[in-house]
Parts: sequence; structure tokens; C-alpha cells
Amino acid sequence: MVKAGLIGEKLTHSLSPQLHEKYGRLAGLDIAYTLHETATDGLAALLERLEADGYAGVNVTIPYKKTVVPYLAWLSPEAQSIGAVNTIRFDSGGRTGHNTDYFGLKSLLERNGFRLAGRRVAILGTGGAARCAYFLARDEGAAEVFTVSRRPEEADSDITAISYAALERMSSIDVLINATPIGMYPHVSACPVSDVVIQKCGAVVDTIYNPAETALLKKAAALGIPHANGLWMLCAQALASEQIWTGRPFTMEECAAVYDYIRRSNIVLIGMPGSGKSTVGSLLAERLGRGFVDTDAMVEAAHGPIPRIFAQHGEAVFRQYELDAARKAAGYMRTVISTGGGIVHTEAAMQALRETGIVVYIDRPLERLLSETDTSGRPLLAGGKSAIAALYQKRHHLYQEYADIISENTADASACAQDITIKLEEYLK
Ligand code: NAP
Repeated sequence: MVKAGLIGEKLTHSLSPQLHEKYGRLAGLDIAYTLHETATDGLAALLERLEADGYAGVNVTIPYKKTVVPYLAWLSPEAQSIGAVNTIRFDSGGRTGHNTDYFGLKSLLERNGFRLAGRRVAILGTGGAARCAYFLARDEGAAEVFTVSRRPEEADSDITAISYAALERMSSIDVLINATPIGMYPHVSACPVSDVVIQKCGAVVDTIYNPAETALLKKAAALGIPHANGLWMLCAQALASEQIWTGRPFTMEECAAVYDYIRRSNIVLIGMPGSGKSTVGSLLAERLGRGFVDTDAMVEAAHGPIPRIFAQHGEAVFRQYELDAARKAAGYMRTVISTGGGIVHTEAAMQALRETGIVVYIDRPLERLLSETDTSGRPLLAGGKSAIAALYQKRHHLYQEYADIISENTADASACAQDITIKLEEYLK
């Protein structure tokens, strides 16, 4: 067994265990990846304990990427110039420090065809990720590279830093890289730069991956500017860490498989009205320690009661509101998303949800739906039982076609949540 883990101050939302264990399954290696929270004064003892416990190494995250350096015997050239370590290998000859974020970002840029050579590159922030981007841009032969800081006068002396006001005045930026936490979940509407700056960019990269589309990337997309989030970087830096710990070369196809696995971290529940999506969804979210949202509730929060939307504006307008809610929900991570029964009629909504989620059809048998469904407040079921039967005939095959997993909800909600949990485990193997 290869033992590895992550050291940081607060690690509750880390995706690293799933990511590394998936690499392990792909490689046929038994990788056990565990999370270790510590305060600064516990750092040295934690490293000693993990080393003594036979760990191959650890990843290091906020706020210890610089703090760990004095505890290491050797630094890789990247870690040396960046001044930060995100991967430690416990070697008999001493602990070695590496910065695999460098490889992760390089791989992300290559995958998206964003060349830095000969370009003007602006990097937002002056922390570990920004320094990584800065030295990568220099190594790649950027014509001009600078970081952007709220207090450029306080930035490290080995990097060029300018103010956000100076960035605003610049005529053009070839590649903009956000290496600040601005826009990260849950502060999803925050954007680190103004529209004026975004309009001047040739390409925009956000190192953030939760949400999948930050406010910055949404704006770039709306302007037709090529853009990418940080999820591939996360997967590629993990690949490089695995190589350091196991000595096994991993392929970019394996990186793509892990990326796909992590990207589809939501669970999307589809099915007839009355099939139990909301109840099962809440139970499932609780059981799996995930967030829960309901696209109908999102529509109502934004536009008022659904029966009123149908009465005043018609179904087409409701479907547009539902599409907006689906796109927003698809931007979340590790969330159970319950949807309205008719969402399968909007291909764009299903496409957005499938991009980031595994689709589960909760199939409540028609006879149960007929005997149990409360049709009040459901405009499309105003015709009562015959309307339910007609909708079921129309939609059942669509639900089946979109589903990655089908769970027959023949008993109670808790049994259905249990069935989905088992099927998910099987599906994700
Ligand atoms: P960090 O060392 O704390 O640095 C963040 C920098 O952002 C700071 O130096 C600061 O620069 C700027 N900043 C902080 N708060 C700000 C605010 N309220 N407004 C404007 N600027 C602010 O963090 P880090 O490790 O570099 O991580 C930065 C980001 O990169 C995070 O979002 C992280 O998720 C992401 N990251 C992603 C990956 C990946 O694999 N995708 C890997 C590493 C990091 P100034 O004080 O100079 O303005």
C-alpha cells in the first residue's frame, strides 16, 4: 500500500482523497490518501509522525507551502525558484520538496493551447500560485510578465508586481491568470478584475475550480474570449505528485480519466413529479456529506411561484428560467441537484447538468405515482391521473436515455437513497 496525504490548516472540502485514490485504481495501486489538519506549531511533529508511519510523502496546502521549506533537505529547481512546496517525498536520504503546481499549470495551458512564449502575461495575486505562474511564464519565454497586487510595494523583490489601477490602464493583455481566491465558492459572484480589464484579454485562466465557471470565466465566455478553469491543473499536479511518490509514470490519458471523474462530482436527480427527487435528494446529500439544491426552488426564489410563472408567461418562459437554474447548479461541485420533472425536454439544461454530474433517474412505478401524487400546484398535472399517465408515457424513455444510473423507487425514500449510494459506488469504480 502507498500511504500519502494532505497537510493544511483547514481541509474539509478537499477533493484530493478521491483524486489520488482514483489514480491508484487506474494504476492498480492501493493508494491510501488521508487528510491531516494542523496548526503551525504542530507541523514539525506531524511530518515526523507521518514519516515514521511509513508514508511515501504528502501534499502541502494553504498556509504551509512556504512554512514547510525549513523541514526539507532538498528542493526541486521549481520549488526553489517559486519558494513554495506542495509535494514532499519522504526519502531515506532526507525529505525532498517539489512544486507540482508548476507542472499542473503548464499542462493546463498546453491542453487549452494557451502559449505564453512572446506574450504579455498578467497574473493576479502574489502568493504561491501566482509565483508558480510567474516563473512558469518566464521559463516559457513570455515577452512580458508581471503579477498584480493590492499592495505591489510589499511584493517579493524577485517578482515584478503592479497595481490593479495600472492593469486597468494597460492597452492589451495576451493571457490573464487569476491566482487569487476571488470568486471561489461560496463567494461565487466576486470577480477579481473589472469588465474593462477582461475585454482587453486574449485568453483568461482561473486557477479556481470550484465553481467550475467563476464570475471571471463567465464574463470571458460572454465576450467570446478563450478561457479555462483550474480543474485540469489540480488533476495534473496530483499526477506529478503520484509519480514522485510511486516512481510509476502516469499518462495524460490517466489524467484525463481522473479529470472526468472529478469534474462530474454532482449527482443530478431526474424523474416524474412525485417520484421522490427532493426527499431522496436531501437524504442522499446528508448521507454523502454533500450540498443539496433543487432547480424548481431556485426558479421560485428568482421569479416567484411556478404556477404563477406558467399562468402569466407560459411554459416556454418557465423552461428558460429552469435552464438558467440548471446552468447555475451545474457550476456547483459535490452537490446533489434535484430537478423539475420536465427538465428532460430542455436538451441544453441536461447537457449542462451532465457536464458536471452523474444523472440518476428515480423511477417510481406509474401505479404508485397515480395513487400518491398530489397534483395541486403542478400546472402540467392539472388534468389529474390521466395527465400523470400521459406525462409518464412521454418522458419515461427520456429519463432512461439520460440516466447513468436508474433507481427504482418502489419502497421508501431512505431505501432509494441507499440503493443510489450502492449504485454510485459501483459506477465510480
Ligand atoms: P495565497 O498564497 O494565499 O495567495 C493568494 C494571493 O491572492 C495573495 O497573495 C493576495 O495577493 C491575493 N489575494 C488574497 N486575498 C485577496 C483579496 N481579498 N482580493 C484580492 N486579492 C487577494 O494562495 P495561493 O496558494 O497562491 O492560492 C491562490 C489561488 O490559487 C486559490 O484560489 C487556489 O485555489 C488556487 N490554486 C489552484 C490550484 C489548482 O491546482 N487549480 C493550485 C494552487 C492554487 P496580494 O496581497 O498581493 O493582492
